[in-house]
Amino acid sequence: MGIIENMRLDGKKGFVTGAARGIGKCTATAFAEAGADVAIVDLDFAEAQKTAAEIAEKTGRKVIAISCDCTDPDQVDAMINQVVSELGGLHFCHNNAGICINAPAEEMTYAQWSKVININLNGIFLTDIAAGKYMLSHGGGSIINTASMSAHIVNVPQPQCAYNASKAGVVQLTKSLAVEWAKKGVRVNCISPGYIGTDLTLSSPTLIPLIEQWNAMAPMGRLGKPEELESICVYLAGDTSTFTTGSDITVDGAFTCF
Ligand code: NAD
Repeated sequence: MGIIENMRLDGKKGFVTGAARGIGKCTATAFAEAGADVAIVDLDFAEAQKTAAEIAEKTGRKVIAISCDCTDPDQVDAMINQVVSELGGLHFCHNNAGICINAPAEEMTYAQWSKVININLNGIFLTDIAAGKYMLSHGGGSIINTASMSAHIVNVPQPQCAYNASKAGVVQLTKSLAVEWAKKGVRVNCISPGYIGTDLTLSSPTLIPLIEQWNAMAPMGRLGKPEELESICVYLAGDTSTFTTGSDITVDGAFTCF
């Protein structure tokens, strides 16, 4: 078989968190287009159901919606059980749910800090470990986390220290799990996107006025599209990336290059 055929995900089962919309919806669509059965995991169950139906219709794959708050260990364990029982296994996942709260550091409340860390870092820890435990005892698998270029640079002009710290944590968590599980068949990688046009950026009244400033700083002069993250995630989920683990793949149109 050729390289493109080998990149396909036929017969594989996976889930994507934060997949009701945005980046997660795009990668879930790409996984299904590549032949996988996929669970759309999200806090927003109504939207997750719509997304699952849309992707199933578009791809002909089995696509289910699961309601789950990724910060709740019991809900995460129940979600993994549901994926395995309804899809018939678990070979890959994209742990992607995340939020951003902007506030100057000296005004940020502990509740705001904790909310961001809880979803962006603790949620990734819980979903990584729950998926990893299953994969470790069922022949291995591939875990993809969504970090951010904010793991590497401090965004300006908006103040977002909790977000930046949470994403730096995701990168080191990814590398730590990759090393611990390297000989056990479970690969763990993350993507670090630059600014991407999703509801997170385009529907936030505080961020919309900043887009022109970001574009002026961006070598490509524009935001990325969520679709521009699809191919790298399909690669990481599949069997042509078997020597790729512990990698943090920046997809930012060169934003962090200077
Ligand atoms: P989005 O706001 O469009 O979608 C996020 C989804 O996550 C929503 O459907 C939401 O309901 C879900 N979610 C939130 N909290 C959850 C929880 N506790 N449990 C389960 N689901 C939950 O965001 P997006 O732009 O698609 O971002 C997805 C990921 O990509 C996030 O981790 C974000 O930090 C990261 N990211 C985004 C950008 C960007 O510019 N949009 C850039 C770099 C990284």
